[in-house]
Amino acid sequence: MARAWHLKSRPKGKPAAADFELKEFDLPALADGAIRVRNLWLSVDPYMRGRMNDTKSYVAPFELGQPMEGGAIGEVAESKADGFAVGDLVQHMAGWRDEAVIPARGANKLPNLGIDPQKFLGVLGVPGATAWFGLLDVAKAKAGDMVFVSAAAGAVGSAVVQIGKMKDMTVIASAGGADKCDYVRSLGADRVIDYKAGPILKSLSAAAPDGIDVYFDNVGGDHLDAALACARNHARFAICGMIGGYNETESPSFRFIIRVIAARIRIQGFLVTDYLGRLGEFYAEMAPLVANGTITSRETIVDGLEAMPDAFLGLFEGANIGKMLVRL
Ligand code: NDP
Repeated sequence: MARAWHLKSRPKGKPAAADFELKEFDLPALADGAIRVRNLWLSVDPYMRGRMNDTKSYVAPFELGQPMEGGAIGEVAESKADGFAVGDLVQHMAGWRDEAVIPARGANKLPNLGIDPQKFLGVLGVPGATAWFGLLDVAKAKAGDMVFVSAAAGAVGSAVVQIGKMKDMTVIASAGGADKCDYVRSLGADRVIDYKAGPILKSLSAAAPDGIDVYFDNVGGDHLDAALACARNHARFAICGMIGGYNETESPSFRFIIRVIAARIRIQGFLVTDYLGRLGEFYAEMAPLVANGTITSRETIVDGLEAMPDAFLGLFEGANIGKMLVRL
């Protein structure tokens, strides 16, 4: 028997522990081409909040009463698939559970680069690739640009800060609280805003008196509005996420949206999955930099499958510095 978190009810607003249920379930027999994986690391990510709703989106909703899914790293415990041996470390999407039987085509073997496996859920995984493609391809950020990034102490944001500095940009970063601001400063951010200490519009205006060229949005709402207010002509906004709104039932209003016209701001949403065919470019540049310590990363680790909903809900309370992970 394996154990998995199942979606028990669809939350309105902020989810509660009662929306999740940990249940045993039978693993199917191992068919040809399949592997049985014992999970070691489970990812919790803000986008999972959207999958708890019954709405049409870019990824299907979690089904009520069914095991939830998400990124995971595990060890092959049994294999009937060519090229996969017992003991191999693999990355796959059958997370929120301790064990899974999956088709081997849904699993990627981790390359042996001497890098801790959990980094493939963080700086060398979805968050890192999101930062890299969002900043460099979507926003077309370049040396000399004044870049503003929100949720900068998180998994995506902390990578954006470092990539921006590595590419000779000036980086203004916002995060909640003094500890997170110290962390973001240690990553090289030029100016750091504690958005909990005062209105973001006032802080951003002071940090960028001549305006910003790029906004990498992880938060939406008041942060996006402040960036609109401070945008230079032809600024580029990469809209990565809007975590400030995921638990809200009403849409925010934007006082400064009208500046899009006069300042000719280009606002572009994106999904990291748009870049699956180009992941090789990301690994080629970032993997050596992670391996040699030029690009650093932190994780906030919660132990045990039982604690997984708390880890997930913690994302919306700012409980993490760096990537939030569950270790089994
Ligand atoms: P993080 O590691 O950044 O964790 C979430 C952080 O968001 C928290 O630690 C908290 O930091 C901040 N936060 C939470 N609620 C609020 C709020 N109301 N206002 C301001 N900040 C808030 O998560 P990720 O790095 O995984 O994701 C960052 C963003 O990127 C999310 O919006 C996510 O949806 C998006 N994303 C988009 C992808 C895409 O393909 N477009 C792919 C991956 C992620 P603090 O304490 O500083 O407030």
